[in-house]
Amino acid sequence: MKLDLNIQPLNNWITSGKQPLVIAGPCSAETEDQLVATAHLLAKTGKITALRAGIWKPRTRPGEFEGIGSVGLKWLDRAKQETGLPTAIEVATGKHVEEALNAGVDILWVGARSTVNPFTVQEIADALKGVDIPVMVKNPVNPDLSLWIGALERINNAGITKLAAIHRGFSSFEKSAFRNEPMWDLAISLKTHAPELPIINDPSHICGNRDLIPYIAQKALDLDMQGLMIESHIDPSVAWTDAKQQVTPSALAELIDRLTLRKADV
Ligand code: PEP
Ligand code: MN
Repeated sequence: MKLDLNIQPLNNWITSGKQPLVIAGPCSAETEDQLVATAHLLAKTGKITALRAGIWKPRTRPGEFEGIGSVGLKWLDRAKQETGLPTAIEVATGKHVEEALNAGVDILWVGARSTVNPFTVQEIADALKGVDIPVMVKNPVNPDLSLWIGALERINNAGITKLAAIHRGFSSFEKSAFRNEPMWDLAISLKTHAPELPIINDPSHICGNRDLIPYIAQKALDLDMQGLMIESHIDPSVAWTDAKQQVTPSALAELIDRLTLRKADV
């Protein structure tokens, strides 16, 4: 089945030309200093295309840090003004979309816990009608290709043509070295259905720990995925969320240097 998506090539909306394409930044915006300082160190590496940060965090259980909220959008804008890096955040409601657009965020993504819910995805899609902004859709937490495709279709039907998928792995009962099983077949299958759809790999949420990231990132590039989203924190040991999987900006720069690019990009 070939999907009927109307999408623009990635290089229409990601124009830095840096290879590999890397979107990096903290799992969560925690404080203004943490976010801005991390952004500066990432920008200084010269290897980053966009800055990511979680503003509203979809925590599995209550009682944990649920994101700094709207105030973080101001910090993100300061980071952008000072570094020149375009910004990317997760949106999970129509209100998040509205606030992100008002705050000048450059790229939005739908998180894995939202992709599972067509009502949520449709609410996000409705808020995007008439807007021209890049949107990336993470795979759902469960290994269901149709939900992933359905979410991409809903966003595309709303008129978003700067569209990409993010492969962040799938939860599984099996004991595994990974936090989320890569299940590469599912991402490859999405590519078969929509060859023109860019797929960005998120090794941080697949691995759940920083040691395995280089292996997954390289495999993604070897499979012709178009880029990477990697969590980076100025001091991962004190990160408020996903501490084990975040890497410092300098470790990230080393990691990127060690990756072998696809032949087509060299
Ligand atoms: C994140 O990117 O920090 C995040 C919450 O990811 P996911 O939706 O993949 O769990
Ligand atoms: Mn995270």
